Amino acid sequence: MELRNEFAVAAGVSEVQFRDAASAFLAANAKPRHRAEARWGEGPDRVGLFRESTPEEDLRELAEAKAWRATCYDAGFIWASGPVEYGGRGLPRAFDRLWAKLESEYDTPTGANLFLVGLGMVAPTTLAHGTEEAKQRYLRALWRGELIGCQLFSEPGAGSDLANVSTNAVRDGGEWVVNGQKVWTSGAHYSDLGLLLARTSRDSDSRHHGLTMFLVDMNSPGIDIRPLRQMTGGTSFYEVFLTDVRIPDWHRLGDVDGGWRVALTTLMNERAAIGGGSASSGFSTTRRLFELARHAGLNEDPVIRQKLAQLWIRSQITRYSRQRAAARARTGHTPGPENSIAKLFLVQTQSLMVDLATAINGAKLTADTGEWGTYSWAEFVLGAPSGRIGGGTDEIQKNIAAERILGLPRS
Ligand SMILES: Cc1cc2nc3c(=O)[nH]c(=O)nc-3n(C[C@H](O)[C@H](O)[C@H](O)COP(=O)(O)OP(=O)(O)OC[C@H]3O[C@@H](n4cnc5c(N)ncnc54)[C@H](O)[C@@H]3O)c2cc1C
Repeated sequence: MELRNEFAVAAGVSEVQFRDAASAFLAANAKPRHRAEARWGEGPDRVGLFRESTPEEDLRELAEAKAWRATCYDAGFIWASGPVEYGGRGLPRAFDRLWAKLESEYDTPTGANLFLVGLGMVAPTTLAHGTEEAKQRYLRALWRGELIGCQLFSEPGAGSDLANVSTNAVRDGGEWVVNGQKVWTSGAHYSDLGLLLARTSRDSDSRHHGLTMFLVDMNSPGIDIRPLRQMTGGTSFYEVFLTDVRIPDWHRLGDVDGGWRVALTTLMNERAAIGGGSASSGFSTTRRLFELARHAGLNEDPVIRQKLAQLWIRSQITRYSRQRAAARARTGHTPGPENSIAKLFLVQTQSLMVDLATAINGAKLTADTGEWGTYSWAEFVLGAPSGRIGGGTDEIQKNIAAERILGLPRS
């Protein structure tokens, strides 16, 4: 059923018309964001990189975020640049950026990173490699927030060495039967659709051949999802066990045994989503760190001051790099190896923030004195190392930069 109003389906909308309509919509439906975020001692003092919520809290937040996303989609503001035949509006990408900017000025239940994998990886990979039926069935639903996606790539024996995937898919008529285990699946428990890399052949000498990509319904019989607890206390990741899970062939993305090429599309988009800033970047916490130094009386300390200056410089470089990435996207470039550098830069900046938070807080980082804005940094410090692993480790990003940007011999 088409729920969208006349504006939402109109073709040939100008940027000015879009901006006016979006501004009016936001003013009528949301509250402007409170900007005084960095005032010392006010509001919640949490500084985390992960969602430290219970599964029940996740589901509650998800329900609100889904409802908001559907309202915005129906009003014509989400995925404006998507192809019309799959639920987009066929407008230039600049309209998507305009909407993101306007929406960021309001307090809305965007669901933080709940949609990151679905929209940053599952949707672009489906658009690039999916069957017509899969595109029709899933793209609009993903962008409208009806469906949430997760990434089923890593296994106990396949992380950096992703070609070592051993989850097995065997053809049975018009279906595939899948058996195996995935691990570190972010948000598996609230996801509807998984992007699954499986082995379909062992005949070739090349391990990159013989892999196939599928979309899998996460509610299929035979899927068992078990939480993993991280050291910050939350459970953002899950193990996913697949036992005789049946997947229809129209859920296959790309050629049989040609899944490696499809996986590369996903991984490039993943680095773009992380390095490009839609993931929690830590930079919104930069000002908080400056306030912390001031509060501790250390902002004039020569060593701390030097590090704060480095942090400020890095935040400016990040801003300009994002502008450059956006300019490249405007000219139709798909995400490339430059995103490996963006991701490396991001996690190095987070390491610098960890150094600063540790140096300034000292013992207050390990014992909760009740003092606002001090012990709360422990969550950030404990969560930051994961950034060096997720989405491809630092070493793998360096290999990519060395081989694909600098042209050095393969490792
Ligand atoms: C926050 C987070 C979220 C994640 N979410 C997901 C998800 O949703 N879905 C999913 O499928 N996976 C997910 N992962 C898993 C992630 O993709 C893997 O952890 C990552 O690819 C590394 O694999 P590994 O853990 O097996 O480590 P390994 O590959 O075993 O690496 C161990 C060490 O060896 C080094 N190393 C390995 N190979 C090389 C090489 N060729 N050259 C130099 N050094 C090398 C690595 O850099 C690392 O230091 C997530 C991980 C994290 C931390």
